[in-house]
Amino acid sequence: MNQSFSYWMETSTPPEFPAYQGDQSCDVAVIGGGLTGITTATLLAQKGLRTVVLEANKVGSGTTSKTTAKITIQHSLKYQQYIRGIGTENTAMYAKANLIGFELIQQLIKENNIDCDYTTDTAYVYTLEEKHLNKLENEKKAYDKLKLESYLADQCKLPFPISGAFAVPKQAYFHPLKYLYALTEVLRKSKGEIYEHSHVKTVDKESGVVHVNGGTLHAKHIILATNYPFLDMPGYYFIRIFQMRSYLTQTQTPDYALQGMYINVGNPVHTMRSHGDATGNHLLLGGYNHKTGHQKNEKPIYEKIDLVKQNYFPFIKNPTNRYWSTQDSVTLDHLPYIGRLSAQTPNVFIATGYDKWGMTNSAAAALILAHEITTEKHPIMETKGLFSPARFTPGAAAKEFLFLGADAVKEYTLTGLTIPKGDIDKIRKGEGKVIRSDGQIIAVYRDENGDLSAFDAHCTHRMCPLTFNKTEKSWDCPCHGSRFDVNGDVISGPAVEPLKKYTIKSQDDV
Ligand SMILES: Cc1cc2nc3c(=O)[nH]c(=O)nc-3n(C[C@H](O)[C@H](O)[C@H](O)COP(=O)(O)OP(=O)(O)OC[C@H]3O[C@@H](n4cnc5c(N)ncnc54)[C@H](O)[C@@H]3O)c2cc1C
Repeated sequence: MNQSFSYWMETSTPPEFPAYQGDQSCDVAVIGGGLTGITTATLLAQKGLRTVVLEANKVGSGTTSKTTAKITIQHSLKYQQYIRGIGTENTAMYAKANLIGFELIQQLIKENNIDCDYTTDTAYVYTLEEKHLNKLENEKKAYDKLKLESYLADQCKLPFPISGAFAVPKQAYFHPLKYLYALTEVLRKSKGEIYEHSHVKTVDKESGVVHVNGGTLHAKHIILATNYPFLDMPGYYFIRIFQMRSYLTQTQTPDYALQGMYINVGNPVHTMRSHGDATGNHLLLGGYNHKTGHQKNEKPIYEKIDLVKQNYFPFIKNPTNRYWSTQDSVTLDHLPYIGRLSAQTPNVFIATGYDKWGMTNSAAAALILAHEITTEKHPIMETKGLFSPARFTPGAAAKEFLFLGADAVKEYTLTGLTIPKGDIDKIRKGEGKVIRSDGQIIAVYRDENGDLSAFDAHCTHRMCPLTFNKTEKSWDCPCHGSRFDVNGDVISGPAVEPLKKYTIKSQDDV
C-alpha cells in the first residue's frame, strides 16, 4: 500500500521544471509551489513583476496534492464560533475574503479554459446525533446574520439516516492538481519562472537574499508560501501555529456517485464526497484529524476508515484503491496569517493557517499579497486587517496556547524517563520507539528485514522530542508538526535538516 501517493497524483501529469542555479535577481521570490505560491506568483507575474517560484520538491507536492479539494465558504461550523470570538463584522470580512477567493478560482478556470473536473455541488455539515442539532441551527443563524445563502435539512443525499444537516448550495469541487498544473502554464506564459528541487534553507530577511542550491536569489519581496513557515522568527510563529493531520481514501465506484460534499459534527471527523473523471466515479472518504505527532498507535486509521465505508456504504463492494494523508497549519485563533512576517521585515510576507480550508483561503491570500506588493486597490484589501500576522489574540488563543505549551512540557518530561536498554528487543519489525541510552534520547526503527536504524530523537527544528507514527512509519514532531522518514530525511517542515544519525554496531551498542 503506497500511502504517500494520492488519487490526484495518480490521475494527473506533473510538469517538469529545472532546479535553481546561480546568482539572479527578481522582484518577488515566492517560496513554495502549492496553491498559495502558484496562485500568488501567477497574479504577480500577470502584473508584470519578475516573479520566481522556488519549490523544495515538485510543484503541488505538499498538502495541495492530498487535499479533499472542496471549494466552499462552508468551513465546517466556523461562522458561529467566529461571531462569538471576533464579532459579526470581522466574521463578515472572513466570509467576504473567501467569497472573493472562490470567485478568483472560477475566474482563473474560465479565463484560461482550465480542465480540472470543476463541478458545482452543495456542501453539507451533517450529524447523526440529535444533541448536535442546535449547532447546525446556530450556524444557520450565523449565516442569516451575514446574509449568506444556506438552509437546514432533515435529509440529504447520504445513503444512511442522519438527524439533520446544514447546507450551503452552489459550492464546488475540482481536481486540485489538474488546476494547479494548468496555473503553472498561465504563470509561465506571463514570464513567471518556476524552479523545482530548490529547497530554501536560509533567507537573509534584511537584504532579501534567498540562499538555495548553493546559489543566491536577490528579491525585492519574499513570500513564504511553504504552509508551516520554516522561518519562524521574528514573530514567534513556532508558538502560534500547529499542524493537524488528516487521512483520506479513494475507492472506484463505477455505478455510484454521492451527490453533495459532506463533513460531520464532532469527533471523529468524517469527510466525504465523490469525484467523477474520465475513468468513472470515485468515493473520497476520510477524516480522523489529530494534531501531528499525537496519533494513537492503536488500530491503524486506514482500517477505521474502511470500517466506516463498510457501515455507511455497504453496497460498495470494491476494495479501497488508495490511502494517503497530509497535514495543514492551524493558528491559535483559527484565522489565517496573511501579510507581513513582522514589522522588522517589511518585505517578507507569509500566508498560512487555513485550518484545512485552503482552497478559497489560499486564493484570498494570493489576492491580498499581490495587491499589497503592487499597492493597487481591490475590494479584498478591506479584509486584510483581519488576517494580519501581527495580531495576537490571547482571549481566543488561550486554550490552544496552553495546549501548545503543555505539549512541549509533556514531551520534554517524557524524555526524562529512563527506558531500560533491553527495550530495544521489544521493537517489532516495521515499528519505531524512542529509547534512552547513555544520556541520549534515540529514535530507533526496525525495518522489515529486522535491521535497526537510530537517530537523535530531537526534531532539528526546535529540538522537540519526536514520536513514532505507526500508521505512516515516520518520526513526527508533536510540537510544530515536522515529519521525518525512517531514514531520518525531512518529509515536511518546518524542519529543513535531516535527523542526526547514529551508527549501530550491534544492538547492545545503541
Ligand atoms: C486532509 C486534508 C483535506 C483538506 N481538504 C480541504 C478541502 O476539502 N477544502 C479546502 O478548502 N481545504 C482543504 N484542505 C486544506 C488545503 O488543502 C490546504 O490549506 C492547501 O492545500 C494549502 O496550500 P499551500 O500552498 O498553502 O500549502 P502546500 O500545498 O503544502 O504547499 C507548500 C509548498 O511549499 C514547499 N516548501 C516547504 N518548505 C519549503 C522550502 N523551505 N523551500 C521551498 N519550498 C518549500 C512544499 O514542498 C510545498 O509544495 C485540506 C487539508 C488536509 C490536510
